[in-house]
Amino acid sequence: MGDSRRCQWCRAPLASGRGRRYCPRPRTCRQSAYRARQRAARAAEPYAATAQFGGELQLRVEAMREVLLQVTLAEGRAPGLLATAAADVERHVRDLVVAAVLAERAAGASWARIGEAFDLSADAARHRWRWYEIRRSPVDPPDAEGGPR
Ligand SMILES: [Zn+2]
Repeated sequence: MGDSRRCQWCRAPLASGRGRRYCPRPRTCRQSAYRARQRAARAAEPYAATAQFGGELQLRVEAMREVLLQVTLAEGRAPGLLATAAADVERHVRDLVVAAVLAERAAGASWARIGEAFDLSADAARHRWRWYEIRRSPVDPPDAEGGPR
């Protein structure tokens, strides 16, 4: 595709150097490409975890729809069942959000960028999720509320 004569990072034409893949000087292109590969590798696991949590959430939503149908047909003869199903959905939404935030952090997203998505300042986002980043364990929070608010 003619890419062999261009820097693999910034796409600038490479003047010389057989087999050279990045700009010769300064070496920021090679380093940037290396860091990007490292970030992608670090993010692979949390991305997979996010996908898994997404699948589990989907099962909970389906379960809640079934409960809703049952409750409707039984004319409310199972009080509390729908609330239990809804609470289960909520827990799994929280797990999914934490996994997604960890994945974004691993991929190099700033707290400012993540906070923006949740209408939070960078500081508020950091306060909400940094604890999980340190623990790296979205599945197993220390208490039901999952750390500092
Ligand atoms: Zn370059």
